[in-house]
Formats: sequence, C-alpha cells, structure tokens
Amino acid sequence: MLTIVEGVIEFFVVVAVALAAVLLNTIDARGFLASAIVGFAVVYGGGIRWFAIVAVFFILGVAFTLYKYGYKRKIGGAQGKGGARNWPHILANGGFASVVAMLNLLVPGSVMGALFLGAISTSAADTAATELGLLSNGKPRLITNPSRTVPPGTSGGVSPLGFVGAGLASLVIGVLAVPLGILPDPNFIIPLCLIGGLLGAVVDSLIGATVQRKGYCVICLKPTEALKHCGEPTVTTRGSPAIENNLVNVISTVVGGAASLVMLWVLSAL
Ligand SMILES: [Zn+2]
Repeated sequence: MLTIVEGVIEFFVVVAVALAAVLLNTIDARGFLASAIVGFAVVYGGGIRWFAIVAVFFILGVAFTLYKYGYKRKIGGAQGKGGARNWPHILANGGFASVVAMLNLLVPGSVMGALFLGAISTSAADTAATELGLLSNGKPRLITNPSRTVPPGTSGGVSPLGFVGAGLASLVIGVLAVPLGILPDPNFIIPLCLIGGLLGAVVDSLIGATVQRKGYCVICLKPTEALKHCGEPTVTTRGSPAIENNLVNVISTVVGGAASLVMLWVLSAL
C-alpha cells in the first residue's frame, strides 16, 4: 500500500517532471495540466517505476525533437513553437497508458504491464521515427505505395532512418524497463517493447497513408494535418474528417499495447 510519505514524494516527482517540461519549453500551461494528469494516473496505478518509464519517453521525445531542430525547422517539418506539444497531443500519447495504469489497480499483473510497455514503446517509436525521418537524405516514401515519395513530415511517409529511430526508441524503453522490473520475467521485456513499438508505429503510418485527415491552411495555404493553423480551422482535402492526428495516435498506442500483450502470451507459451 502507498504510504502518505511515498504519496507526497511521488506527487512532487510528477510535478517536478511536468515543470521541467514547461521550463524546457516543450509544453504550455494546458500541456502542464495534461502531463500532470497522465503522470498522476500512471504513478497512482502503476507506481513510481511505471512513471520512470513515462519520464524516459518524455526525455527521448525532447531529445529527438530538439536534435537538429534548426534544420528541421528550415525544411518545414519541425514541431511548432520551439517543439512544444499541446495538451491534446499529450493526452493522445499518454491517454491509453493512463487508462491501463488505472486498470492495473483493479487487476494488477503482467497483462497490464505488457499493455503499458507496448503503448509507451509505440509513442516513443512514433516520435523518434517522425523526428529522425525528417533528417533522411532521400524523400520519405508512402508506406502503402513505396514508389511514391511524399514531403518530409507527411503522415504515412516512411524512411529507413525512421525505422531505425522507431527500433532504437523501443529498445531504449525496453532496456530501461528490465532493471525497473516492469514484468516479472525480465527476458520478455525487450522483445515486447520492440514488437509493440515497431508494430504501433507501422499502424500509425498505415492509417496516416490511408484514412487520416489531411488538409490545408486557409491563411498561409500550407498543407497541414492540424485541425487549426494560423488560428483558423483548416480545410479537409483527403481522408476522413473525423480521423485526425491525435486519434491516430490513440489508435496506434492501443494496437502497440495489444501487440505487446500477444507477444507476452506467445513467449509465455514457449
Ligand atoms: Zn497557416
């Protein structure tokens, strides 16, 4: 059981990490609130070791986003506002992991641990693939039709460097989850993270290449996947208006979590 002292320490750790994110200019005030909600859900449901995994994802995300930020900005693929993420983005990436952490209170064990690792690996893999992929020499190719090249940063576009980034990020999550003992059997952790992260990132790209909403800004006329640009709602040109980027993130974290869970069952049966 959580003692009061542990609870107070965990409270301050979550607030400190979210505050660090604000100070690094990676989130704004509402992003701070969203991060704190995700952080409290994870620390309350999964404990401080689960929260450490989320913190690692956060550090990876900041590192990959700020890596060669100036160059990515120049080619127009960089995240806006100095790399700052808004609150829907944070809830989209951390929402499923938070729900799993809450469910872990009701039914603690390997199933929830596997879902959690797969979800976080997917978010880490997707972020790394996007940010590293922007640095590719060649243009990204459409995952559903590799003979077609697309502009850097387009959802559904993939590159060898992006795949390397996705694998690397999943591996880092796995390697750190082993000493933290997220699953009872340490041998399962790295394969689970790799399968979950890579499959989740691939599903993200597949949805991005097919049904995800794409549009353009009515003010600056740039193509964008955001619902708002230059302060105005954007116009849909392709895909389903309801399937926007944040929903795609939610779906891919659920798929990544499920893939890790299947991997847990397969490895346990061997
Ligand atoms: Zn615009």
